[in-house]
Amino acid sequence: MAAAIAVESLIRPEVRALSAYHVADAVGYVKLDAMENPYTWPEAMTAEWLERLRSLPLNRYPDPSPAGLKTLLRDSNGVPPGMDLLLGNGSDEIIQMLLMAVAGPGVKVLAPEPTFVMYRQIASTLGLEFVGVPLAADFSMDMPAMAAAIAEHKPALVFLAYPNNPTGNLFERADVEAIVALTPGLVVVDEAYAPFAEASFMEDLPRHGNLLVMRTLSKLGLAGLRLGFLAGPPSWLHELDKVRMPYNINVLTQATVEFALERLPVFEEQTALLRQERAALFQALQSMPGITPFPSRANFILFRCEGVAAGDVFDGIKRGGVLIKNSSSAGGALSGCLRVTVGKPEENRRFISALEQAISGR
Ligand code: PMP
Repeated sequence: MAAAIAVESLIRPEVRALSAYHVADAVGYVKLDAMENPYTWPEAMTAEWLERLRSLPLNRYPDPSPAGLKTLLRDSNGVPPGMDLLLGNGSDEIIQMLLMAVAGPGVKVLAPEPTFVMYRQIASTLGLEFVGVPLAADFSMDMPAMAAAIAEHKPALVFLAYPNNPTGNLFERADVEAIVALTPGLVVVDEAYAPFAEASFMEDLPRHGNLLVMRTLSKLGLAGLRLGFLAGPPSWLHELDKVRMPYNINVLTQATVEFALERLPVFEEQTALLRQERAALFQALQSMPGITPFPSRANFILFRCEGVAAGDVFDGIKRGGVLIKNSSSAGGALSGCLRVTVGKPEENRRFISALEQAISGR
């Protein structure tokens, strides 16, 4: 029998220091924790989709560069002519590809914080130094701090979530432009929440040599399929494509995304409903004593609890049958904060009533 190998002798310390990305068990709860679209498809559309699946050749590898799918993505996302696309198994995989392509001794990656945790998490697994620059108290960009950090650390990559997760706000356009101009490396504007933001840097791509725009279909309503993409100048995407696994977008995902994008109005209707619900949910939160919601351009709302511990409010909401996200456990700027995803009207009502009960201690 081979001798036991100590974990510490093989697994790098920076990996051992991490915690795996935690996903709460949502079984039995109204699920408002993960920024998913709560709506499913009309029955006739599902039947048509099943029909399309019948002819899929599952014995063959997927198309490594699906031209038809890319054309649909370009058209539905307003990708400017001359820009290329790189597809990922969710935008998480694109973040990983970007970081793998630049990783090396002394290379640094920078983002304002708090932000999407996977930028830091994946950078750490690859041994890259991650520089987090605190946002201002109102979650706007602290431009003097950002400019100083960029000058000091000369990052190879800067990630800007636009709108930001978990704060929900859009950074000032002029601040993003200034960061693109100041950064010696690439700036990735992560537009995961594009269907809810009504603002974008997509059409600005041709004006900048070091700007990339990343999107995902997850928030539109296809989170289960795992498809993200990066749009940018062909010279950069050509290099990034070398770290992509050849068959990273599986046959079922390719066929189903094509099918869905051919029926885009179904999803546009759903996201329009969610934007309306976001406004109603914001108002309901604003009218509650001890609760301060932050304005959001995404499909979730961050809110601060005052006079009562956020952890207790979170637990109380959960006892009421609704799962949201306890952002306060990250501490710092997010202390006292919880994040709720915008759901269907009846789900949002369940949440508001669970929150009322939680803060009144019943
Ligand atoms: N970027 C941001 C800002 C996000 O909030 C998320 C998901 N919560 C992602 C990227 C990842 O999206 P996906 O991997 O589902 O495409």
